[in-house]
Amino acid sequence: MRIKHMFKKTVRDIRGEEHENTPEVPDNLMRKCNACKAAVFVDEVKQNHYICPHCGNYFHVPAYRRIKMIADRKSFVEWDAHMEEGNPLQYKGYEEKLRALREKTGLDEAVVTGKCTIKGTPVALGVCDCRFMMSSMGEIVGEKITRVFERATEEQLPVILYICSGGARMQEGLVSLMQMAKTSMAIRKHSDAGLLYVPVLTDPTTGGVTASFAMLGDIILAEPKALIGFAGPRVIEQTIGQKLPKGFQRAEFLLEHGFVDKIVEREEQRIVLADILKLHENKVRDNGQSDKTDRDIGNTIWPEFVPSGNYTPWEHVQLARGKTRPTGKDYIEAIFDDFMEFHGDRHCGDDPAVIGGVAFFHGQPVTVLAQEKGEGTKENIARNFGMVSPEGYWKSLRLMQQAEKFHRPVICLVDTPGAFCGLEAEERGQGEAIAKNLYTLAGLTVPVLSIVIGEGGSGGALALAVADEVWMLEHSVYSILSPEGFASILWKDSKKAKEAAAVMKLTAADLYQMGMIEHVIPETEPVNRENINDATAYLENGIVDFLEKYGQKKTEKLLEHRYERFRKM
Ligand SMILES: [Zn+2]
Repeated sequence: MRIKHMFKKTVRDIRGEEHENTPEVPDNLMRKCNACKAAVFVDEVKQNHYICPHCGNYFHVPAYRRIKMIADRKSFVEWDAHMEEGNPLQYKGYEEKLRALREKTGLDEAVVTGKCTIKGTPVALGVCDCRFMMSSMGEIVGEKITRVFERATEEQLPVILYICSGGARMQEGLVSLMQMAKTSMAIRKHSDAGLLYVPVLTDPTTGGVTASFAMLGDIILAEPKALIGFAGPRVIEQTIGQKLPKGFQRAEFLLEHGFVDKIVEREEQRIVLADILKLHENKVRDNGQSDKTDRDIGNTIWPEFVPSGNYTPWEHVQLARGKTRPTGKDYIEAIFDDFMEFHGDRHCGDDPAVIGGVAFFHGQPVTVLAQEKGEGTKENIARNFGMVSPEGYWKSLRLMQQAEKFHRPVICLVDTPGAFCGLEAEERGQGEAIAKNLYTLAGLTVPVLSIVIGEGGSGGALALAVADEVWMLEHSVYSILSPEGFASILWKDSKKAKEAAAVMKLTAADLYQMGMIEHVIPETEPVNRENINDATAYLENGIVDFLEKYGQKKTEKLLEHRYERFRKM
């Protein structure tokens, strides 16, 4: 159905940049979707999370509608609803413009803030509305956001901000610029109090806002295809005299480049936010809620280790590298509940060779880091065969530090042939990235457990193994480098890998005897994806025991123990 006089409306931000694909939905009966040009019923769009029913295009959501979509019914209480607006530059016509916008939108300013619950969890919530001067950051916007963080710090609340912005508000000059500093400082205080902040970046999030509160979240979410960037695309194109590639500065581009943890579809946002809040409640859930087996703590879970058969070291190497051997994500799936993966190093990329996130273990939130080789050739390639790049180590570093902030134990699953050897890896400082992981783990004030599940190759493995205890599965190996590399360096012949394996003392049994590891998880049958539960039942019991033992230690004792563990080597 086509309706005459449907106007193509583009939204202009304060830099004059147009945002064609994300039109407003005024209260007319029908509108035309600017993405697919189909006629859509406004009511239908509203019922559909402001998504075009024809093409899935995301329309801008007015602030109060957004609050309705996210908050528990009738739970929202607004803060600082009316504030006195200034005109610091005495900019001509500014006050009139604000007055007109207030009348038109029914909003006081470009952000609405307050407190609500999301699936029962109390949270401070702020929502930007781009109908109001492209939600540019003037004094009142900055002030309201600052107050949200101050009040949330006082009331010990997490903060969720739905962000969109054209950037600073030019009409307010340097006063506007200072809001970047003011908001960032309030976020710092909130974070120092150990509280969670989750920005949700929506279209468009640009300018000074990306250089302040939008990027300072513990976990940064984004809506699909949202434009996110410091400089607007048109400004960049004019500066460099080139057309920008398709998808540049979209949410997916930011995820790939390590700046966004997760892209979440609008229909899923309330659930995902509720799950994130639960994972950060920082209290042990009722054990009964775990769907994994519960066993009594304090059982004799580590009987004397007896090797399951006569395997040569080279056979152990081959089993450790086996195609049917479970990888990190298989163990995550088998041992933990509600794992939520987070992405990105916040520098330049997201390394698929490392999986990191938060999950429940018997009701307790834990941070899980796993080196991941993937299953099958296609995924092996996508994950670079578990060879970690600096981006992967920066990601693990970031998530370790976050674990410390939220008092979560860290559980690492080690499985890598070694850190990636490549030009880019060196350019970005592979050695430095690994070193920073060792250094950070040395002082991390939460319990750290590392489990070698396959190959523990070199410094690439050690980056996730400066732990309070290190365990190995019986057919995993842990070594200074691969047997091939060892043979090549010492005997100038990489074909002598088998002989090298025999002298390297890289098996779990050898390392256990040498006192380099605490426990060996027996593999009566070499572990594969079918029988993985034998190994994980063992691991689960062990982890329960580990968390109880190390969770009770005073920080000082914990760090002293970790120091001594490596000091004696
Ligand atoms: Zn459409």
